[in-house]
Amino acid sequence: MNNNQGIKAVFFDMDGVLYDSMPAHSAAWVRAMTQFGLNFTINDCYLNEGRTGDDTINQFVRQQFGREATRAEMDEIYALKTEFFNQSGGAQQMPFANDLLQKIKDEGRQIVLVTGSGQASLLENLNKDFPAIFNKDNTVTAFDVKLGKPNPEPYLLALKKSGRQPHEAIVVENAPLGILAAKAAGLSVIAVNTGTLDDKILYDCGAKTVLASMQELFEKWEDL
Ligand code: MG
Repeated sequence: MNNNQGIKAVFFDMDGVLYDSMPAHSAAWVRAMTQFGLNFTINDCYLNEGRTGDDTINQFVRQQFGREATRAEMDEIYALKTEFFNQSGGAQQMPFANDLLQKIKDEGRQIVLVTGSGQASLLENLNKDFPAIFNKDNTVTAFDVKLGKPNPEPYLLALKKSGRQPHEAIVVENAPLGILAAKAAGLSVIAVNTGTLDDKILYDCGAKTVLASMQELFEKWEDL
């Protein structure tokens, strides 16, 4: 990103960006929702990525059963989804994610993780997979915010933690709601379309560029 020396910080989403975790998440969601009689597709999962489990379940119960989801339903469906996801054996790093992080670190730019995930072992896994990049001062997780994406709160907190203004930072996201959250925080977004959605959906949410993969982002980084 030599053409853009004003960029001091890069904010990374996690699922579908640093980890190739969305196929396992979406398969687990489809199985769990289907078991409870709800019609839920892989594309529905990508469209709702970033929304909390409760919100996702309630939205589909409301649409299809014409009432609010009960607390017990939300807990049971989410527990089942988590069980199916854990059975899938965990997520692999996205190819070229670590190469890109190391390159950005070498350029002297700040890196911040902005995820709605709240896994207990998150930071531990990040340190194993992306050595010497992440610590509690440059991560925003489900534990840090009240309102998840598409609310701008996670990205506003990333700005605060990095001490940067919106024009000094850029976001790397794969999901519609993540792009909306970043845009609502005044940030510019590069989308990597690692899922099943049309590029147009990501552009319509406000992405300035949509690339096909983290490999493409790594290779084009200097030209962006
Ligand atoms: Mg994502």
